[in-house]
Parts: sequence; C-alpha cells; structure tokens
Amino acid sequence: MSASRPAERAAELRQLLSTYSYEYHVLDQPSVSDAIYDSLFGELKKIEAEHPELITPDSPTQRVGNALSGGFKKVRHSSRMLSLNDVFDRQDVEDWVVRMDKLLPGRKHEFFADIKMDGLACALIYEDGLLIQAVTRGDSFVGEDVTANVRTIKNVPLSLRRAKGFEQFLTGRTEVRGEIVMLKKDFAKLNERQKAAGKPEFANPRNLAAGTIRQLDPKLVAERPLHFRAYDLQRDDPAEVPTNMFAYEALTALGLTRNMQASVFDDLNGVMKFVDNWDQKRHDLPFNTDGLVIKINDRAQFAELGIVGKQPRAAVAYKYAAEQATTVVRDIVISIGRTGAATPVAVFEPTVVAGTTVQHASLHNADEITRLDVRIGDTVVIFKAGDIIPQVESVVTELRSKDSRPFDFEAALKHQYPELKFERPQDEVVYRVKGATGPLLLKKAVEHFASKAALDIDTLGEKNVGALVDAGLVDDMADIYRLTKNQVLGLERFADISAAKLIDAIADKKSPSLERFIYGLGIRHVGVQTAIDLANRFGSLEKLATAQLDELEAVDGVGEVVAESIAAWFADPDNEALLKKFSNLGVKPVHQDRSNGTLAGQNFVITGTLQSMGRDIAAEKIRALGGGFQSAVAKDTTYLVAGGKVGESKLKKANEYGTKIIDEAEFLKLIGE
Ligand code: NAD
Repeated sequence: MSASRPAERAAELRQLLSTYSYEYHVLDQPSVSDAIYDSLFGELKKIEAEHPELITPDSPTQRVGNALSGGFKKVRHSSRMLSLNDVFDRQDVEDWVVRMDKLLPGRKHEFFADIKMDGLACALIYEDGLLIQAVTRGDSFVGEDVTANVRTIKNVPLSLRRAKGFEQFLTGRTEVRGEIVMLKKDFAKLNERQKAAGKPEFANPRNLAAGTIRQLDPKLVAERPLHFRAYDLQRDDPAEVPTNMFAYEALTALGLTRNMQASVFDDLNGVMKFVDNWDQKRHDLPFNTDGLVIKINDRAQFAELGIVGKQPRAAVAYKYAAEQATTVVRDIVISIGRTGAATPVAVFEPTVVAGTTVQHASLHNADEITRLDVRIGDTVVIFKAGDIIPQVESVVTELRSKDSRPFDFEAALKHQYPELKFERPQDEVVYRVKGATGPLLLKKAVEHFASKAALDIDTLGEKNVGALVDAGLVDDMADIYRLTKNQVLGLERFADISAAKLIDAIADKKSPSLERFIYGLGIRHVGVQTAIDLANRFGSLEKLATAQLDELEAVDGVGEVVAESIAAWFADPDNEALLKKFSNLGVKPVHQDRSNGTLAGQNFVITGTLQSMGRDIAAEKIRALGGGFQSAVAKDTTYLVAGGKVGESKLKKANEYGTKIIDEAEFLKLIGE
C-alpha cells in the first residue's frame, strides 16, 4: 500500500507498532491480532524499502523481540536467537531461493521444513548432559534466565538421555533451542477453571505461555501446564551437527520432544506439497501454529549464507493466508440498487486477505458507517474467511489523520447523485431514491437491458416490460431468461405468436457481446463507448469485476468518478448475486476482440445526416471494425464525417486537432460498403 505522505505514515506506524510490540512481548497482553500486527508491519517494511532514508534504528523492523521485562538475571546468548523473514506464497519462496542462488551460484539446496509453533523461544543449556540454564530469546542478543520456571515443564529433560550414536552430546556444552507453548487442550481447561472461579479468561495460549514463564513464582508456573518443543541443537563445534535433520534425530535420541512431521525435500515442489498439506491439517495439531519454517538442511551452507539484519538468509517463515489485514480506505462510494436502496461501498488500497486481493467491501448502510465510524483516509481492519465476502471489521483510530471528519452520508448522496432525491423511511436503516418505487426502477433497468444499444431484444419494449414486472414474472434483469411461453400467454397483451416471438427473442440473446452486456447492466457513467473500451481492455466480466481502480482508470475516458462507479457496482452484493444468476441461467457474454479490426485506433465523429444509414447504425459499423464513435471532435478524433455542411466551430476544432474531414462516400469506403 503506498502512503501519500510516507515519512509521516512511517512515523505513525513505528509508534503504533512499538506500542503493540510492548503489549505483546512485555505485558503479554496484545491488544490486536498477529494478522493485524503483521499487516501494519508489512506496510512499514514496504515504505522503508521504497524510502530507505526513513529507516530509524528503533524501527520495529530493525529488532527482534522487545526490551526485557526485568526481575530476571540477564544472560548473553552464545549466538544470536534470530527471527525469520516471512513468505506468503510460492512466488515468495522461489524469490528466496533465487536470492540464495545469487550468493552461492551453482550449489544444490536441500530443504528442511517443519511446523512453526506459536509460543515463545527458549534456549536450554546442558553441561555434560545436565540442564544448567534456560534463557528466553529476549532481544536476540541477551535473554532472561528463567531456569527455575522451565524446570517445572514436565517434558523438559533435566538430564539428556544416553543413546547410541549420540553420546558425544553428553560431554561439554549442548544447547537445545525450542518453543515453549501451551497445548490447546490445557489452555481450554485453564480457561474453564478461570470461568468457574469468576475470573477473567486468558486471551490466547501464546501470551499465557509467555506470561507464565516470566512469573517470578515457580509454584504458580508449575500450576500452569507448559510444553516444550525443540527445533535446534547447537554445539561449540558446528561440524558435530551437519544437517538440520540430523539435529532433529539427535533431539529425539536425547529425550526431547520435537515435531515428528519435519521433513527433508530436494526440490521446491516437495516443499510446496508440504505447505499445502499442512494448510488445513495444522488446525488439528495439539498446539497453535503460525505457519511453517523452511530452512536449508545443510548447516555449513546455512552458516555460509549468513545473516541480514535480524534474519538468517537460509531460513524463512511461511505464513498461511491470514483472514485479517489492514488497508487504507481510499473512498466511500454509493451504489444504487435495483430497489432504489443506496449501498455505501468502501474502496481500498488493494490488499491481500485470505489469499485474494480485496479492494472494496460493502459498508451496508449509513448506520453501519456510523457504528464503525469509518472515514475516508482511515486505516481499517478487513476480514475475509474463505469464500465469505470481505467485511470492514474495525478502524485503527490511532492512525487516523487529525483533520478527518465523520462520513456525511447525505452530503455524499447529493454529491454523487445530484439529480436524485433520497429519503430514509422511519425505522429503516437504508436511504432510498425518493419517488421511484422498486418496480419503476426495475422496469427502467430491464428496459435499458433490452434496449437497442444494449441486448437489443426485439419486442421487449416499455409496455411488455411493464406488463411482465406488474405480473410479478420479472424481479430482476436476469429473470427474463426464466420466462416460459405459458407464463407470458397468461398476460392480456400476448397471443400465441407474440408470446413465442418474445421467448425466442430472449433465448436468442443468451450469448450477447460483452460490451452490450456491460452497457446493459446500467452502471452509472458507463455509456456505449465506455462499455466497449472496458470490454476491450478486460475481455471478460470476471476480469472487469475484479479490476483494480488504477486499472480501470487506465482505460480511455474512464476517470476517477467512472472507475469508482464501476467498482461500487461490482462490490454491491445484490449485483454480485445478479451476475451469478445470469450465469446460472446460461447467459454468457462473449467478447469479440476487435483490436485488429481495420478501424482499430481510429475515432469518428459524424456531423449532419447521412443518406445511406442512420447515425446509430453507422456507429455500430465503426465499432464492429474496432473504431471509436465520438459525439464531439476531440484531440484524438481521426475523421469527421460530414453529412452536409460542417459548422464553423467543428471545422475550427478539426483543423486544430488535425482531424481529417471526409464525406459520406469516403466513409462508406472506409467501412467497406
Ligand atoms: P518470527 O515470526 O520471526 O519467527 C521466529 C521464531 O519462530 C523463532 O525465534 C522460534 O522461536 C519460532 N519457531 C517456532 N517454531 C519453529 C520451528 N519449527 N523452527 C524454527 N523456529 C521456530 O517470530 P518473532 O520474531 O518471535 O515474532 C514475530 C511474531 O510476533 C509475529 O508473528 C507477530 O505477529 C507477533 N507479534 C504480535 C504482536 C501483536 O500485538 N499481536 C506484537 C508484536 C509481535
């Protein structure tokens, strides 16, 4: 997401993220979810990548963990306990491999992947096989001595087991690194007890585990069941642990718990299969996960790749699609539905949530806007689970600009629809177009859909549409495709032949051209030429429906207002349902690519009257050959077709813009008649 004032935005994000980080790491009481934190963190990282001069030493991107909370002895780690760079999809993983290839050209990589546990990192130090110290990660260099508390964790061996082939680890210093977690079932039990005792419930297992391990009273710690899972084994001589898989085997042999799912792969396809496999299955694990860890298996290669900032180059954290993300509201636009109801839609800086790019969400009605107090320019949390339509969940008010004002719904209606009047009936949350009842708007919409420039359905004019709507046979544009001859025959206006004719005419238009269909939808500000331009640019309804605002604005003649109107139309859930209905009824618009037509790139204006054909037909012929039809001479007009004498002002403009003036005969030649 690109901030318009990056320096200010970065400073605001830094401050807020520091607060969140303090709440999470020191107080063990996060006020927002990890997805929200990660999303804002990602935005800051992006700004810093685009403007490296804005990086400050205290930026949350520059450090691991947080200040130590005090009360415990500080211990310096033998080697830094690092954090990991996030990746979110296959492309990110491929990019990571490319970066490593650049540093170590021609070297084969073997990958090691494991589940990433959501707990807190801890180092266990064994001297001659005996546990002598346990240290939290702290700020990566220095952690806190929590030995007394860790000794209460039942699956932490106080002495390492002797096992054949691994005896060397019982001599000298052996450091085991891993994650302290609280198992989901233990967390649930504890919360039940809290509830029964009338005490507040704990927020999540990760923070409860972190808070517990930093309790000064080990007795209290012993009452809260914690669990340790190892993920690393270190010796003074790194050659004793040649691969990460070897480390895992040694950990098991020495009596430590580790994830048995960890596996080695010799290519990325294997890694991605592991990723896909655990996407759903991870929910069934006994502890919370926040993704996977992917590493280079060979530890010498791992070390050779080194560290950049606070992350090793040879490992990444794969994060599964979060169902929450933050973004900025670029605008709030209002769409008028077929019943005349005004639906506000928030237009976002495009952002990825649950694996899909989201750029708008319905705000439902004026009351919902008031409840959320969402304003243009606000940073919001959006939520999307699976196929569920994205929703605005809340506003990050800390990031609101000082001059922001509450959204004025009535003023926005006036601004967007100056020609319409709205009313909000008592006890209703919805504003509706005044004086235009649902049926009237519906009739207009269907008439427009069937009109000559749209689907051109013969015999479906004003009167017939009126009769069908009044009889309750047509509730939306798509319903016309459901009509049967018998239903129509039941109406006074129709006899056998006329009914059959109507049904046939409709059936005949099941594969309309994309541009006519787009025009027929009646999207505000989308006229015939814009519909053609949109069809040519996007090629399908699906692509148009998911087009981003800047992609829409890149289309000739589509400015901000038109782009937003298109976005609002497609974001309206009623319209989404309508498009689905069309599709279910077998209506499939087809796009004819005319960009290779003989008139492609040439624009025409016709003045006066042509002898051989009407203006509409001429326009259609021009468009069929890929040309554009304009109503007035503009900079990009190629030909002015003179059907008679050309007026002064048109002549002047044509001369100014270098537009060629041609007569009807020349025009007919151009269109091949
Ligand atoms: P990270 O995402 O950088 O991951 C590195 C850590 O993963 C390691 O130190 C290790 O402890 C752990 N890990 C778990 N399983 C592992 C395995 N199998 N192999 C190797 N390592 C494994 O994590 P981080 O630096 O601890 O913290 C960042 C996280 O903290 C983010 O997910 C962020 O959302 C969260 N956070 C949340 C808030 C909030 O307010 N909600 C605030 C600050 C940070």
